[in-house]
Amino acid sequence: MVKAIELENVDLSLGRGAARVHILKGVSLSVGKGEALGLVGPSGSGKSTLLMVMAGLERQDAGVVRIDGQDLGPLDEDALARFRGRRVGIVFQSFHLLPTMTALENVAVPLELAGHSDAFARAKAELEQVGLGHRLTHYPAEMSGGEQQRVALARALAPDPAILVADEPTGNLDEATGQQIVDLLFRMKTERGATLILVTHDPGLARRCDRTIALRSGVIDVERSEALSSGRA
Ligand code: ADP
Ligand code: MG
Repeated sequence: MVKAIELENVDLSLGRGAARVHILKGVSLSVGKGEALGLVGPSGSGKSTLLMVMAGLERQDAGVVRIDGQDLGPLDEDALARFRGRRVGIVFQSFHLLPTMTALENVAVPLELAGHSDAFARAKAELEQVGLGHRLTHYPAEMSGGEQQRVALARALAPDPAILVADEPTGNLDEATGQQIVDLLFRMKTERGATLILVTHDPGLARRCDRTIALRSGVIDVERSEALSSGRA
């Protein structure tokens, strides 16, 4: 198996003073290229933090994180940001669109900042891919939740990342709309051969992944992970 992401003994605490929390405790895992990995666990178990570490958005205190074989540890902030920009697309529960920009601008401007000369043409094509060719000049406030999430998905996919991470991407959507987003997420993943890491509360959604990892208090629950991955839970 060619590895897209590898974590070895990752530890991470966040917060200051009395508010400091030891969130990830000796987490080791690897994700194969093109694999869809589901990440489940109770609220507060460290799923979002783990996802941020796997995306290179949060740095571990100890342990090793490799993406496509590159150890992220030695990279300085600029190098890490550039690496992430090229390799990783991120979708959040709460969309994170800029309210003062149209759908087209929300997708095109980050591409432009990353140096793509064809940013607007590319953004338009991505928005058409997610079925939003008719919403290019709409602002986020003028779109439904599902439409906003599709803009966020187009933005994440536009740089053609090898890794797509999604943190409860259907958490703010009704069931039918959530289903559309999930179908789109898996279709895009398959069409582009990307690796997908999906944090979800929804067992049905976790079952669509090739494998599932269950976290409990910042530790991988091996038994539960195996049961979920083999469809016994
Ligand atoms: P999950 O996504 O599984 O709900 P999180 O990764 O968001 O869990 O958070 C795990 C734990 O770490 C929670 O108890 C949360 O309150 C705490 N936490 C998350 N981020 C910070 C932070 N920046 N500072 C202090 N504690 C944090
Ligand atoms: Mg979370």
